[in-house]
Formats: sequence, C-alpha cells, structure tokens
Amino acid sequence: MNKYAVTNPATGASESSFTLATDAEVIAAIEAADRAHSEFSRGTSVGERAALMQRVADLHTERREHLAELIVREMGKPVEQALGEVDFSADIYSYYATHGEAFLADEPIELLGGEGSAFIRNASLGVLLGVMPWNFPYYQVARFAGPNLVLGNTILLKHASQCPESAAAIEEIFADAGFPAGAYRNLYASNAQIADILADPRVCGVSLTGSEGAGAAVAEVAGRNLKKVVLELGGSDPFIVLSADNLEEAVDAAVAARLDNSGQSCNAAKRFIVIDDLYDAFVESFTAKITGNVPADPTSPETTLGPLSSLGAAEALEEQLQRAEAQGATVHARGSRTGAFFSPTVLTGVSAQSDAYREEFFGPVAAIYRVQNEAEAVEVANDIPYGLGSYLFTTDPEQALRVADLIDAGMVFINGSLLDSPELPFGGVKRSGFGRELGRFGIAEFANKKLIRIL
Ligand code: NAP
Repeated sequence: MNKYAVTNPATGASESSFTLATDAEVIAAIEAADRAHSEFSRGTSVGERAALMQRVADLHTERREHLAELIVREMGKPVEQALGEVDFSADIYSYYATHGEAFLADEPIELLGGEGSAFIRNASLGVLLGVMPWNFPYYQVARFAGPNLVLGNTILLKHASQCPESAAAIEEIFADAGFPAGAYRNLYASNAQIADILADPRVCGVSLTGSEGAGAAVAEVAGRNLKKVVLELGGSDPFIVLSADNLEEAVDAAVAARLDNSGQSCNAAKRFIVIDDLYDAFVESFTAKITGNVPADPTSPETTLGPLSSLGAAEALEEQLQRAEAQGATVHARGSRTGAFFSPTVLTGVSAQSDAYREEFFGPVAAIYRVQNEAEAVEVANDIPYGLGSYLFTTDPEQALRVADLIDAGMVFINGSLLDSPELPFGGVKRSGFGRELGRFGIAEFANKKLIRIL
C-alpha cells in the first residue's frame, strides 16, 4: 500500500494513491532548492518575490472551488469551511505580499558610542523543510511558505500522507505564479527521508505542525544536526467563563470554538471552565446547542459538522471517550459513531486523575468543569501539559487582563472565539511547541538577523 493516498472519510472510497519519492528524487529536490536559493532568491528583491506571492494569493482565489473540493475528499472538511480555509490562505499570502518589504526593512541600531553606524539586515537562511498536517492542508502551508518565500528561503514540503492531492495543487500554484521549480517543492517523502533531508548541510531548518510525537521525532533529528526548529503542536485550550452579560453569546462562541473543522483544530476550545453560578445554565445550553449539530455530508453547503478525517481517527476518539467514561466521567450527550461520522459529546465530572483531564480530544468532544472562583479557573486552565491558545469570557476588563497574564498559553482571546487573522501571531508554549507563525513574528523565525557594523 502506498503511504500517500486519499481515502474519502465520508464514503470510505479509495480515491487515489501516489508512490514515494525515490532517494534520487529527494537529493535532486534539495539540489534544486539550494540552487533556487542562490540564484533566484539572491537575484531578486523582496518586492519582486512579494509580487509573485500576490499571484499565489490570487491563484488560490481563482481556484478556490477546485482546491476546496480536494480537501473535502481528502479529510472530510465541510465544503463551506473548506472554501473559508482557501480564502484565509489567500489572505495570508496577500498579507506577506503587502507587508513583506516593511517587515524585512533594515533595522538601524542606536550605537552606545563610537563612530559609524550599525543596522540589522534581515537575510534569508537557505533551504527549509516544512512538515505539515492534514487538518488545514492549505492554511498550514500558507503560514510557513508565505513569509519564508518572501524572505527568500526556499522550501521542501512534506505534507501529511492523507492529503497528497492538495499537496500537489499547492506546488502547482507556486509554479504557475512564477516561482522557479526549486523554490517550492512538494515531496512524497518517508520519515527516513525526512531524517536524511535534515542531515543535509544545505537544509537550514524545519517547521513542523502536527502531534507531539511527530514534533519530538523531527526535532530530535534536527537537534542532532544543529538545525533551527519551529514546532506548532497540539493543544487542549481552556475556555473560561467567569461572567457574561449575555450567557447565550458566550455559549455560541464556545460551541463554535469546539466544532470548527469538525472539532479537529489544534487551538479549538476543548475544556470549558465555568464559574459556579453560571455552570448549570452553561451546561444545559451548551449541550443543547452542540448536539444540534448533526454530522452530515461534507459536500453539502448546509453542513456544519462533517466526518472526522478518517475512520481511524473516529475509532481513536471513541476509544478515548470509553476510557474517560470508565475512569469516572459523566457523559451528558453521547456521541454515536457511524464510520468516520462522530456526533458531539459532552463530558462533565472529569477527574484530575483521569487521562481525559490532560489528553487532547481531536474531535467534537467537550469537557465542562465547574470552578468556584477566578483562582481555581486559572489553576484548572493551566493544569495540563499544553499551552497553545485560551479563551476568557468576563465582563470585568481588569479581571480580563489579570487572568490573561496568569494563563500559560501562547494566545489569549477575550470575549470572542474564531478570531484568527493573518496579522495575529500564532503559537504556543509548554508541549504545544515553540516559535510563532503569522504576523510580523512569522517572517522573522527563519531570518538571519545579520548585523552590519560600518566604521
Ligand atoms: P501528525 O501525525 O503528527 O502528522 C503531522 C505531520 O508529521 C504529517 O506530515 C506526518 O506525516 C508527519 N510525521 C509524523 N511522524 C513523523 C516522523 N516520525 N518523522 C517525520 N514526519 C512525521 O499529526 P496529525 O495527526 O496529522 O495532526 C494532528 C495534530 O496536529 C494534533 O495534535 C493537532 O493539535 C496538531 N496541530 C497543531 C497545530 C498548531 O498550529 N499548533 C495546527 C494543526 C494541528 P504522515 O502523514 O506521513 O504520517
């Protein structure tokens, strides 16, 4: 069986499969990427590369229906959300096309004394490897490729094995936009080849988005080879409700934050931590609203919740849920499973000793916790190995900033959810990884901040 293959999770049908790259092809891709760095990147200005990047954005927009259709089949994303992802990716490419020159402008340094001048020039490093997951096949690549190609780094991209068709479509867009062949290269690589790529002296760094296990495996090889790493890993984001003028608005934001991408977002709200006096009303309304979303055909524009990305993913979630129940959790609304289709499930009474307390549920399963005060809410929020995003609802602006300071996370969203945008830096702390994508920080991760001192 080929590792790179499409199995439609909604139907179970095998759609396509692709052979692995040969070692010779991998070496040729590294050579081409290295050549593109020394000839194309060094021979063009940031402005020229930004103009090509705008074309990448435009091509996403022009091909949006086709691109969306590919990921509906590859990982079951409901078509309206798939179109939204393509549009968001176009916005990210356009953002770096528009702001790249300003972000990469020379940064003067005020000298403490002495003659002459000094400044930082933001230079490219060279060839980078991207290892990306299936849950947002276009958006994850955009966050990495957009800023780095404008900066002048060139890219080898190993996409998730379940989305080889969208991986190829992205490569085609870069070629059609006018980037030379080596600047962006899709590789159907094995894990062993990924290790070989990282050992190659022409490859300067790696950015991986995915699970803790993949992050640790790739970072280990990168560390051995002294390569810079950015890791965007899992999360189990808290959604804290301390007070609300309108509880229903908070519940709507909570349901949206849990169900986005059929519950398979790294920064989805996964644990709902609610103050005692709002808890009963929150549980009742949240359960009613989340279970109103019935998993359905992802090709229908009406569908808000699709299948999970694969039968295996649904089976793994079911096993996790059974374990949670066996370890004492109360199931409020039981999610039934039909193939890869998994209906929303609400847990309460998850004890601090159970696996469910610390694990990430990658699907439409929500755990709700009752807390007595702000301090306990912060304690529960932080009592996990992850620190990606977080959500806080309160009517007290001072409390909002006080609690934001206390939460161990890379991102805090106050009184809202689903607010991601190209200018907002994305990333985590603890076992959610390190480094940032998006915003101006996203273009700085793989820049050589070269000091130039002139006497
Ligand atoms: P995954 O299994 O870790 O896969 C991610 C990528 O890593 C895939 O391309 C995968 O390739 C590759 N990979 C896995 N093991 C590898 C190894 N030993 N060496 C080299 N490459 C390896 O993750 P997933 O299940 O697709 O995605 C779900 C996870 O990603 C969740 O935990 C989610 O929270 C996290 N995530 C985080 C972010 C973020 O920005 N923080 C965003 C999205 C998702 P194959 O497909 O070929 O195995």
